[in-house]
Amino acid sequence: MTLWVGLTGGIGSGKSTVAARFASHGVPVLDADAIAHNLTAANGAALPAIRAHWGDAVFAATGQLNRAALRQRVFADATQKQQLESLLHPLIFDAIQAAQQHTALPHGYGVVEIPLLTEIPRFRQLVQRILVLDVAEPLQIERVKQRSQLSDAAVATIMAQQASRQQRLAIADDVLTNHGDLSALHTAVDQLHQYYTALSQP
Ligand code: ATP
Repeated sequence: MTLWVGLTGGIGSGKSTVAARFASHGVPVLDADAIAHNLTAANGAALPAIRAHWGDAVFAATGQLNRAALRQRVFADATQKQQLESLLHPLIFDAIQAAQQHTALPHGYGVVEIPLLTEIPRFRQLVQRILVLDVAEPLQIERVKQRSQLSDAAVATIMAQQASRQQRLAIADDVLTNHGDLSALHTAVDQLHQYYTALSQP
């Protein structure tokens, strides 16, 4: 059977590190954030609808989206934020689905990294299994701060906007606990690679 594994987890949980390890085995890895970004890049499929709704004020003279201007409009306005999301999410869904259809699966399975898989239930239709990266919050905060120089308060704000650890675990088929060092994480991914390869065989 065709198997797409949805990889998700909170900020700094190790998604990119895990995705890179799957990719090192030759497993195709799609990145929902990158796909979403493309939709609003030059000539992106979301631009006409964004212009129709927010007008020229959120575009540069060159025709490129002025992300800062759009962010400013939706940042403090829940209704506008929701409007932008309902415009983007179906396009992201379709773009991921199209990418899946065009991707060969040499090991029988592929991975889609979808940070918001818990927050946006409809995206779960794109995958047959969900792999959740789980990290205790103090360690998660420490790793995010090490990487990005964010303050405790800034990290706490981001984490408060995301699903909780419990909510993520509730949708998991498989849980990878990222409490060890990088070599332990790689070993765990290597084992999952064997598992998903076996699972996807007819
Ligand atoms: P984001 O949601 O912000 O994109 P992410 O979930 O993709 O983050 P990574 O970028 O893979 O997470 O990891 C966050 C940071 O933590 C990186 O600097 C990474 O090297 C480090 N890290 C991840 N796992 C471990 C580990 N087991 N041991 C040590 N450092 C780790």
